[in-house]
Amino acid sequence: MCLICDRIDMIKKGCNPYFVRELETGYVVIGDHQHFFGYTLFLYKRHGEMTELFHLVSDERAKFMEEMALVAEAVSRAFGAEKMNYELLGMGDAHLHWHLFPRRRGDIENYGNCGKGPAWWYPMEKMYSDENRPGEATLSDMRQKLLEELDRLIPPPSCEVKQ
Ligand SMILES: [Zn+2]
Repeated sequence: MCLICDRIDMIKKGCNPYFVRELETGYVVIGDHQHFFGYTLFLYKRHGEMTELFHLVSDERAKFMEEMALVAEAVSRAFGAEKMNYELLGMGDAHLHWHLFPRRRGDIENYGNCGKGPAWWYPMEKMYSDENRPGEATLSDMRQKLLEELDRLIPPPSCEVKQ
C-alpha cells in the first residue's frame, strides 16, 4: 500500500495522531519530523491515475489548490513563518500530497547556498533525526493551534463543530 494511503487509512480508523482536519479534497496532517517547526502536509483524498495536477478536472484542481493555499495560511498563522514553502513532489509516493514548510532565516544553518535554499538542502539525517519528532504534548498543542486557524479560515460544516 502507498504510504499516503496508509496514513489516510489510519485517519479513517481514528488512529493517526498527526491528523488535524479533513477538508473537501484532502486531509491536513502535521509532519512526522519538525525541524521546520509547523511542517504540515495536505494529502489528496484520492489515489489512482491522478498523480499530476494536470490530471485533475479543472473544478477539482481549483478546489484542491484553494484548500492548499488556505492550509498554508493557517500553518503560517499558527506557527509564525517568515515565508511559506510549497512543494508537490511524488517520485517516492506518487499520491498527490503537498509539503508545506514554514521557513525562517537560519533554518538550514549554513547548508545550501550559505544558508539559503530549499528545505531539502538541509541534511536528511538531521532533518529526519528522532530528536525532531514532536512529543505527545507538543503534537497535541500543534494540532490544536492549527485546527483553530483552519476553522477560522474554513468554517467547518455545523454538524462537524466540536464542543
Ligand atoms: Zn496512495
